[in-house]
Amino acid sequence: MKEKFLGIDVCTDTYDQLAAKLLEDINHNRKSFIVAINPEKIMKAQEDMELRDLLNKATYQIPDGIGVILASMMKGGKIRSRVTGIDMMMRLCKEAALHGKKVFLYGAKPGVADEAKKKLEERFPGIQIVGTMHGYEKNENVIVNAINASNPDILFVALGSPAQEYWIVKHMDSLAPKVYQGVGGSFDVVSGRLKRAPLLFQKLGMEWFYRLVKEPWRWKRQLVLPKFLIKAIRE
Ligand code: UDP
Repeated sequence: MKEKFLGIDVCTDTYDQLAAKLLEDINHNRKSFIVAINPEKIMKAQEDMELRDLLNKATYQIPDGIGVILASMMKGGKIRSRVTGIDMMMRLCKEAALHGKKVFLYGAKPGVADEAKKKLEERFPGIQIVGTMHGYEKNENVIVNAINASNPDILFVALGSPAQEYWIVKHMDSLAPKVYQGVGGSFDVVSGRLKRAPLLFQKLGMEWFYRLVKEPWRWKRQLVLPKFLIKAIRE
């Protein structure tokens, strides 16, 4: 099931439902693509039709961002909790370790994906992370060949948004993995180089507030939340 906010589809599935669907996609050799949706991306897609098509092209648009939850509540929808990009990635890693699915990490600064790999191996014993590649390699063939050589089932792409989503759509036909997820700065967090907001803020849906205090120069970017809510209600 999907709900639409200002022309952008968002899945109503929970982590459990998504995990089950994604495993089925892998087992049935179906390709699927996960994109994290937040008010910033929806607002950007209002003027950028190419971005709108790209977001709607994804198989699963996950509601990352409290703004989408609020909009769904106010419009009588049924999305009640966030599915964040990084937590979805963690959940997929857990499933990969449990079910013997292979994972590849592509993106972030040189060294970061390797550090993230180590951390994931500690956290999910038995996980097969069959390869990594940093996000500054310019030769597309080198990247595609490196990924296909290790025949992964799941590919996490951490190039920032929407570059990573454009990259996935452009290359997924010639790539081996079944499940594709754009994960933004998640490798920086998983590797330990970047700190996520404390759990309390995450639980309250207030990560935006934590970031505002730590990186006050971002306040202008955050104005998008009230703008989005007003627009979504009027819709
Ligand atoms: N990045 C990359 N290649 C590039 C540009 C960026 O691998 O050409 C990486 C960067 O090192 C960082 C991530 O992409 O790890 C972007 O993180 P950000 O938090 O900005 O993602 P967003 O907020 O766009 O989801």
